[in-house]
Amino acid sequence: MASRSQIHSQKPPLNRRPSSISAVPVAATTPKKEWSLDDFEIGKPLGRGKFGRVYLAREVKTKYIVALKVIFKEQLEKHGLFKQLQREMEIQSNLRHPNVLRLYGWFHDDLRIVLILEYAHGGELYRHLRKSGHFSEKQAASYIASLTQALAYCHEKHVIHRDIKPENLLLDHEGRLKIADFGWSVQLKSESKRKTMCGTLDYLPPEMLEEKAHDYTVDNWTLGVLCYELLYGVPPFEAESQKDTFRRIMKVDLRFPSTPNVSAEAKNLITRLLVKDSSKRLSLKEILEHPWVIKNAEYTDACTN
Ligand code: AMP
Repeated sequence: MASRSQIHSQKPPLNRRPSSISAVPVAATTPKKEWSLDDFEIGKPLGRGKFGRVYLAREVKTKYIVALKVIFKEQLEKHGLFKQLQREMEIQSNLRHPNVLRLYGWFHDDLRIVLILEYAHGGELYRHLRKSGHFSEKQAASYIASLTQALAYCHEKHVIHRDIKPENLLLDHEGRLKIADFGWSVQLKSESKRKTMCGTLDYLPPEMLEEKAHDYTVDNWTLGVLCYELLYGVPPFEAESQKDTFRRIMKVDLRFPSTPNVSAEAKNLITRLLVKDSSKRLSLKEILEHPWVIKNAEYTDACTN
């Protein structure tokens, strides 16, 4: 499995898959209902993140199935990530889109913070991609279309995701894609720009590597990287060392291998997203209107809102 490094300008790199620190300085945010573990029957573990575990669970009263993400406060504190978790929780709990994983609520005790999340039966897109090597153009275009719509919704709410990658995307029981991790996302005041470098090296756009100001268009770049990875099975700028990856991104050293065979239209979309000048990248609207997306994306009722 390819390994990826997580980058943040103010902190040591995190491991390849940081826990969706959907995080909770709970005291700082007031949940609508006072939840506790007694409200849930806990089922099988669904996975493990850097700071805790995720369990399948059922709310006792309604029998509603959810995923509970249990995060240990000590771990969060050790890594100085309370604020980040708080931001992630605030952002995610306010988003309502069929392709954004719901955060229903949260609670905490002395040791743990527990996030009540929508359950995504299909698990990580990353696992499916590794299993099949790469996706067909139809599959890839359908995921790109769903994700583009979810990002358009996020941008409308002034939220930049900044860390789109297959590890942060889950699938529900119908194979519907869900953005599941808002750990590096930020909510901007209309036209302002950010400077923090964060995200995963393979997916970082040049302006973030240079720690220049960046805006919503960082997500458009990551859509190009994702589209490439879905079709080829590896990210476009992968190299032996981080330094080389960095160099390849800065030069936009984009190469298309001869196998698997990928259509010229798909390559055209990728090439028009992986553009160094962020103002020249295709807009989200243009992605949805791109001939490759129109020809290949299979829209479900959930991704046509
Ligand atoms: P995370 O801590 O977010 O990295 O989650 C660890 C693992 O738990 C993920 O890789 C998923 O396989 C699984 N997982 C996390 N959230 C959910 C969810 N809402 N539904 C189903 N599985 C999940």
